[in-house]
Amino acid sequence: MSGRDEDRGLRFETRAIHAGQEPEAEFGSVNVPIYQTSTYVQPGVGKPKAYDYARAGNPTREALEQVLASLEGGLRALAFSSGLGATTTFFLTLAPGDHVVLGDDVYGGTYRLLARVLHDWGIAFDTVDLTDEEAVRSSLRDETRVVWFESPTNPWLRVVDIERVSALAHEGSPARVVVDNTFATPYLQRPLELGADVVLHSVTKYVGGHSDLIGGALVTSDEELSERLAFLQNAAGAVPGPMDCYLALRGVKTLAVRMEAHCTGAEQVAAFLTTHPKVTGIHYPGLPDHPGHEVAARQMRRFGGMVSFEVSTRDEAISVAERTRLFLLAESLGGVESLIELPGPMTHASVAGSPLEVPDTLIRLSIGIEHPDDLVEDLEHALA
Ligand code: PLP
Repeated sequence: MSGRDEDRGLRFETRAIHAGQEPEAEFGSVNVPIYQTSTYVQPGVGKPKAYDYARAGNPTREALEQVLASLEGGLRALAFSSGLGATTTFFLTLAPGDHVVLGDDVYGGTYRLLARVLHDWGIAFDTVDLTDEEAVRSSLRDETRVVWFESPTNPWLRVVDIERVSALAHEGSPARVVVDNTFATPYLQRPLELGADVVLHSVTKYVGGHSDLIGGALVTSDEELSERLAFLQNAAGAVPGPMDCYLALRGVKTLAVRMEAHCTGAEQVAAFLTTHPKVTGIHYPGLPDHPGHEVAARQMRRFGGMVSFEVSTRDEAISVAERTRLFLLAESLGGVESLIELPGPMTHASVAGSPLEVPDTLIRLSIGIEHPDDLVEDLEHALA
């Protein structure tokens, strides 16, 4: 099945299981085999069959790419060795002198790449509050080639109006809009349909879903760009191994059911936190008083599995994070098990001292698919 399965009326849940995943031809393996090889025998000099070398192509990887293209409603997806590998490869489409508008709340590693690596290669960037229309307009320069953001954002769970920002960026500007859709996943939100040019995933997170792999992906409907990205995937070489692609394929089959459970758990946890006296701030787009609630309700199916909240002091935040029994104290997110972390000293340590610095009183939760009552009880205990 191809990236246009929607046109044939197949629904998301069905495509997650079948797109790009035909039973294997020779023995009928229901699962896409793990083609654990670096090279392919060639019948004659310069006459390979479908594949010649596994950096350039691998059937397990291609199956993953096809299902991701189908789920995001894109023409083509390309898989990478990590989310940051995908990010780096995308930025190789730029040239010195180009300018990037970066959302002012993003994964610390994305910021670090721009500030401490790409900066030295002559790529300039500004961090911008993309919920402020005037700020978006005034941030766009003649040299701006990319507007890059997350929604919901990591770790503040802010919501950016993808349709609006895409329209503003495309008004007489050659800038491409890239949405890091890691938090929402294509089950909850499909940025390409809202006008974005590219979707990025840390496949490590919800797509894989089981905290057992590192991977990334780019999806686009722009044919010319997809050709360039495919060239760069091979030329720069940040490709995933076949075993990780297999694990991601196995994970993606259950994306829809997992996301429903993540959302249900997050809603219950967020509702509990709003009632707790020690919680000084709660950030979940599903709460009616969240500033991005209306936009989220418009552009997302549900509100996702990530919740962050604040307590009064750093010591209190550390104590909560160290006292949970079910929530595991760990970086990352999107797995079936619930995780707790302090973005300031952990996932976002690389933005310390920058305008994106996160206070150490913020706690981020990745809600797993355990019974929500158990998760609430665990937090009740940790906050006591
Ligand atoms: N984007 C977001 C929103 C993330 O949370 C992360 C990692 O935490 C990344 C991108 C980078 O992905 P990876 O860790 O797979 O390189």
